[in-house]
Amino acid sequence: MDEKTSRRALSTVLRRYPAQDWTQRRDPFEVLVSVVISQNTTVQNERRALQNLRDSVGITPERVAATGVENLERALRPAGLYTAKAKWLKALAQHLLDRYQGDLLRLIRPPLEQARAALMALNGIGPKTADVVLAMVGDYPTMPVDTHIWRIAQRWEIDPGRRYEDITEAWKARIPPEQRREAHLALIRFGRETCTARLPRCLVCPVGPDCPFYEKIRTGQIQARIWRPSATAV
Ligand code: SF4
Repeated sequence: MDEKTSRRALSTVLRRYPAQDWTQRRDPFEVLVSVVISQNTTVQNERRALQNLRDSVGITPERVAATGVENLERALRPAGLYTAKAKWLKALAQHLLDRYQGDLLRLIRPPLEQARAALMALNGIGPKTADVVLAMVGDYPTMPVDTHIWRIAQRWEIDPGRRYEDITEAWKARIPPEQRREAHLALIRFGRETCTARLPRCLVCPVGPDCPFYEKIRTGQIQARIWRPSATAV
């Protein structure tokens, strides 16, 4: 999909999944915690683990740093990799208290590249986690690439490679800075509801006419199963 076509496809996705209300911001530390918990787990399990942590520990740097790893593990058990995540979160909380008075916003002070490097220097924070925190907490124009946005990039054939940095740069070239956070959330919803990993809904997808993946299915260049409406009784 060339750049012009992918911009048109993005506009279609943004119209289908319009901007959400940004005024309902969550606490910065809670955003960091939820993004770390969300790694390698489903949304449902992330929410269960976050609620457990809220109920049994409290989601502040002070509470997390003061809680034993075993108790954190117990709260995080519904999420995958919960033993590692418990250690990471405790260390992150202690780091924020020791160096930044518990204030995540101090850690991610501009410039952007410095803030990104400061986050990625910490255990449990890779490029995607850093980009989500920078976008959602710091209002930076990053373009986080999760599993859905990665898959859509492959299907739209917009990326020049398979490294995270290549794919985020490819998206950034197509999305103006002020629209990236909105585009990130819209593409995730599009990936969950329409361009799904299994049985994508190409037959009802508004991007279908422009999509190289669907074109290859239609012309028999690749074999892939897509969603089909079940036959209706007559
Ligand atoms: S046509 Fe299919 S593969 Fe292409 S964007 Fe739509 S759902 Fe995804």
